[in-house]
Amino acid sequence: MTTTTSPVPAVSKAATGEPILSIENLTVEYRDSRGRTVHAVAGVSFDLFEGETVGLVGESGCGKSTIAKAVVGLAPIGSGTIRAFGADLASMNRQQEKNFRRQCQMIFQDPISSLNPQRRVKHIVAEGLEILGGLGKGEIAGRVEKMLAAVGLDPANARDRRPHEFSGGQCQRISIARALAVEPTLLVCDEPVSALDVSVQAQILNILQDMKSRFKLTMLFIAHDLAVIKNVSDRIVVMHLGALCESATPDELFENPLHPYTLGLIRSIPRPDPSAEIERAFAVGEVPSPTDPPSGCRFRTRCPLARDVCAQVDPEMVEHSPGHFVACHFPLVDGGDTSSRLGVAEEISQ
Ligand code: SF4
Repeated sequence: MTTTTSPVPAVSKAATGEPILSIENLTVEYRDSRGRTVHAVAGVSFDLFEGETVGLVGESGCGKSTIAKAVVGLAPIGSGTIRAFGADLASMNRQQEKNFRRQCQMIFQDPISSLNPQRRVKHIVAEGLEILGGLGKGEIAGRVEKMLAAVGLDPANARDRRPHEFSGGQCQRISIARALAVEPTLLVCDEPVSALDVSVQAQILNILQDMKSRFKLTMLFIAHDLAVIKNVSDRIVVMHLGALCESATPDELFENPLHPYTLGLIRSIPRPDPSAEIERAFAVGEVPSPTDPPSGCRFRTRCPLARDVCAQVDPEMVEHSPGHFVACHFPLVDGGDTSSRLGVAEEISQ
């Protein structure tokens, strides 16, 4: 096992070259309506390399969407750095900021409210191109048609209509067309399918996968559903209450979960077989308030494996095996099959 050297090390795949996006020791805090400080993101670090999709997963309120917003400049960075395309977001000059705005686009959770209801689809999709400048009207109109067709909408039928005339899934297609019209390199997808029906979810995921290979995108994909994340990610990063728990490839994470919270998430995935035995929840209790997070490990009040040290020392991310990182003083026993690890964990939790 390799202990990483910095206090909150980057969670990186074994990759060469500079990451496209590098988040280091990111902290985001804000005041709630009662004036209390919400510790939304606490010292998060990870990298995103060209061409890969990193899936960021965790329960609602764990800070994953705050990270997405910080990346695109919609949430204030308290401390730490976000570097994108080699430049620090906090100290970009005007030209660098303009380049970044083109290169990094975001898709939001609620497709309907993310589109201006007053505007026609052709204007919504063209807006980014008009702001960035450099293209004539004819070229913009051509790009809009191309993007609408790419996301499976009939340009002739869609271009003059307004968002309320479309379903949620169609609105998300328009959002994707709008984001990709400016030819970005990095796409931040913040829960892009969680507001959609299951059948539509699959269509949107397929479109995103298709767009990724067609436009050579790098993606930060955020979701609370580990089953969704598994299918789209090259690497998964698990978050709980503003802090990172674990990171690995999807297969490794599902076969060898090391953090008790990851195991809880895997167990919470519904099974299609009605005769399957329902497994006991592994994580216990409510998520603590981010205004008053537990000392030490932020998962300790819900963790059946917690010991005294867990309340005293915040576990660092360590590389347990190549490319598999975990922040836990007592990662689940490895070297055996899943059931034996579960057995050990459950025995301790009795
Ligand atoms: S550090 Fe302790 S409390 Fe936190 S997940 Fe590991 S065993 Fe549980």
